[in-house]
Order: sequence, then structure tokens, then C-alpha cells
Amino acid sequence: MQAYSDTADVTHFIHGEPVRGAGERTQAVFNPATGERPRKLLLGESADVDTAVASAKRAFPKWRDTAPIRRARVMLRFLELMNRHGDELAAIITAEHGKVFSDAQGEVARGIDVIEFACGIPQLLKGDYTEQVSTGMDNWTTRQPLGVVAGITPFNFPCMVPCWMFPVAIAAGNAFILKPSERDPSASLFMAKLLKEAGLPDGIFNVVQGDKVVVDALLTHPDVKAISFVGSTPIANYIYETGAKHGKRVQALGGAKNHMVVMPDADLDQAVDALVGAGYGSAGERCMAISVAVLVGDVADKIIPRLAERARSLIVKNGMEPDAEMGPVVTRQALERIEGYIATGVEEGAKLVVDGRGLKVEGHEDGFFTGGTLFDNVTPDMRIYKEEIFGPVLACVRAKDFSEAVELVNAHEFGNGVACYTRDGHIAREFGRHIEVGMVGINVPIPVPMAWHGFGGWKRSLFGDTHAYGEEGVRFYTRQKSIMQRWPESTEKGAEFAMPTAK
Ligand code: NAD
Repeated sequence: MQAYSDTADVTHFIHGEPVRGAGERTQAVFNPATGERPRKLLLGESADVDTAVASAKRAFPKWRDTAPIRRARVMLRFLELMNRHGDELAAIITAEHGKVFSDAQGEVARGIDVIEFACGIPQLLKGDYTEQVSTGMDNWTTRQPLGVVAGITPFNFPCMVPCWMFPVAIAAGNAFILKPSERDPSASLFMAKLLKEAGLPDGIFNVVQGDKVVVDALLTHPDVKAISFVGSTPIANYIYETGAKHGKRVQALGGAKNHMVVMPDADLDQAVDALVGAGYGSAGERCMAISVAVLVGDVADKIIPRLAERARSLIVKNGMEPDAEMGPVVTRQALERIEGYIATGVEEGAKLVVDGRGLKVEGHEDGFFTGGTLFDNVTPDMRIYKEEIFGPVLACVRAKDFSEAVELVNAHEFGNGVACYTRDGHIAREFGRHIEVGMVGINVPIPVPMAWHGFGGWKRSLFGDTHAYGEEGVRFYTRQKSIMQRWPESTEKGAEFAMPTAK
């Protein structure tokens, strides 16, 4: 299969074919490890959205009427192909995103989990049925697909986040249009070609590459019925408001500032490992990364020297090197933003324990590398505490006790993920019950729910009612219909003017 070339232009994928689209605008796609820009992305225009929506709309009725088990079989073949080609896909992700190869493999595996979940769509679409709601009358509910739906995805998971959306949407009988991140757009094309190979009819999965122009065209297109978005909070807010104003169902997942509370009774070896992995893994560019360690009681004095040692000795290099622990960040702008935040933290009076700025990787001098950074004595009024940095910067906040730690987490505007390290069952239970965050880990640093549990934060980390994937995902991509039925033999003659009741 010729799905990816290191130098070819990155195209759209409409009605089963790669297409160059209507526009003239292009954008470079970088390899963050080398700073080179080997590929050129063709940016879509609203005419490309019109073409993709028309293709999806044409294909939808036949796909909707295809038996769910036959739709599931297409997903099953796609699942097999994703398993077979997973490493090729992971290499594409590393080349455009920068994350280390094993991490890219993990992302592909978590995307595959959702495809596997979507293979169970016949069971998931089963409705409810009540016989004899009144004499001779039955009532049942069914869930039907919406039609043409769209997904807009961020750079940090170019395979997994689209997989939170399209397998469920398509298996449920919709036609899907994906607008991937312009920073790492090739994974979406790779998956589009595998879907075609799996036997998905043309038009049921389209990719329109681009920027705000494409997003706005999708948000306002009258034939797009629902929008799923994952990205930063300001854009999620904009997507939610604009989509809703245009009559669409919207699910918009936003940014994060995830805390990990470490209690004095925790296994501190495990807590250090967890903070290092979840703080610096994927260069901190995960929406479930831990960016704040809340160290309770005397924990700070015991673990900060150990965290510092680990941050200083991180192996930072090209993500394709087998021993790399952390790769580059995604773009030069991201690097400048992250290092700018480190300068801000120093100005704000936080204690810079390890400074990752200015890291040079031998042989990759033009790559977008920064090392692991560690701050101590961070306080809630500081920008480095309040704002999402989205880089390998871990901020330590000291709390006197459990209540202060919980209040701190609950007062933050974001509520995506959180973790608590403790050996105390009561503390763990209280934490789970009272913390105002959508996804909670007890001695689990990155509690990304499994494919059948659904993913979503609280507060300004999610706009909309339903979480992504799992049964909530099925609900998002379908609408309920209730049908009541009776037959002439059991129907009494004569008009009824009172509100019908069970007889
Ligand atoms: P981003 O918000 O910059 O971009 C996300 C998508 O929105 C991209 O497809 C982009 O092209 C589009 N976009 C960007 N600016 C736009 C504009 N002005 N108008 C319309 N569309 C626009 O996010 P990113 O930098 O790609 O990804 C990182 C962010 O995503 C972080 O904030 C991270 O926390 C968040 N994220 C959240 C989750 C979650 O599940 N909550 C998961 C992954 C990433």
C-alpha cells in the first residue's frame, strides 16, 4: 500500500480519493526532530467543504440503511488493517508530531481500542421495547444516525483523537468529515486509505485539511448535523457557541491543567515514577499530562530532589531512537511559548529547580527541543499555575493537608484529569467523591478511560453534554425515536378528546 511518502504534498481525501482541492494556499509540515519541512499541506477552502459534504450526503442514505452488523464487519476489517499497519502509522506520527515511537505505538493502540468498541455497534444500537403500554398497543425506542457529522482534532493525538470520533460515528450509520490538525495531517490520510481498503463506501469518510477557513465552513454548513471538537479551551468555547448558534449538536473538549496530589502515606517511589512519566512523557503535550504536583505535608522535601535528578537525566532526542524518553515539541512556536512560560515563572517568584531551556541535541541542532523543567514553590496566583503550558514543565505546589489539596484542585478553571497517590482507602474514596474533575486516577497518573467508558472533563475542559466515545459517544452520534403502534383489531372506534392514558 502506497499511503505515505516522506515528501509528497498532503492532500484532502474526498469521495474515496486523494484530491488537491480548490485552493492555492499551502502550509509547511515540519519534522520537529530535525526542523526540516519535508511536506507541504494543501489548505482547504469552503468549496472543498461543500464538495466533501455533498459526497457525504450522497453516500449517507445507503450506509444508514446498511444492516448494523454489516457496518460492523467493515469496522472489523478496518481493525485488522490498523493492527497490521500500526507501526507504519506510529512512524508517521513520530515524524510529524515528534513523540517517541513507543508512545506513538501506544496512541495507535488506544485508537484501536475504540475501533474494537465500535465493532459492537449492533448491541449498542439495540433499543427498548415495552409490550402492551395500553391494551393492544406497544411502544419502543430506537436510535438513528444524524446524517453528515464532522470532527475537528488537535495536533497532540493525530490518530487516537480522530479514533475517539469516526469509528463510533460511522458504525452508527453516519457519514463523517474529519478536519485534522494542520501540524500533523498525514495520519488521517493513512487511516482514510485503510478505511477504503476495508470496504467502506466512498463518501462515508472524508478528510478536508486546513485551518479556520475549513472549520468555519463546517460550523456553518446547513447539512452538517453535529460537530465533535478536541483542542484548546478558547477554540472549544468558540466551536461550541458557533456550532450551537447554527443549530448543530456540539461536543467540544478543551484544555487542561491536571494535578496529582501526593499524600504523605503514598508509595513515594511510585509517585516519583508517575510524576516523571506523566509530566514529561510526550514532552507534556498530552491533555492528560500531569502539570501540577500537589505535595502534601512533608512530601515536597522528600521527593523534589528525586524529581530534579530524574528531570535532569531525561534522555531527550529524536523520537525514533530506541532509548529516547522524550522527543521534541511540535513546532518552534510551541518551543518559544513553553520557554516563555518558564521565564514568566521565574519572574513570578517560583523556584526554578531544573531549567530545560536551550537544550541542544547533537546532530539535531535545528530540532524543536527543550528539556524537562521543574518548579518548586508555585502558588495559585501565578500564571504558570493557572494557564495551560502544554510542554514538559512540572510545577510543584505545597499543601498543608488533604482538604487544602482538594480545595486547590476544585478551584481551578479546568477539570480534565486528576490523580491522587495514597495508601489510605478512606482518603481515596473521599477524593473520588468530592473532586470536581471528569477523570480521576487513584494511584493511576493518566486515567484515560477505556473505550467503553467514555472520555471527558468537567468545567472549562468540556463544552456540551456528552463525553467522547463509549456509550455517551453512541448517544452523541444518534438520536432517539419513540414509536407507538397498534393495529385496527385493537383500536376502538370514535374520536377521543381527552389526553390518551393507558387502558
Ligand atoms: P488548537 O485549539 O490550537 O487546535 C485544535 C483544532 O482547532 C485544530 O484542528 C485547529 O486547526 C483548529 N483551530 C485552531 N485555531 C482555530 C481558530 N481560530 N478557529 C477555528 N479552528 C481553529 O489545539 P492544539 O494546539 O492542536 O492541541 C492542543 C490543545 O488541545 C491543548 O489545549 C490540549 O489540552 C487540548 N486537548 C484536549 C483534549 C481533551 O480531551 N480535552 C485532548 C487532546 C488535546
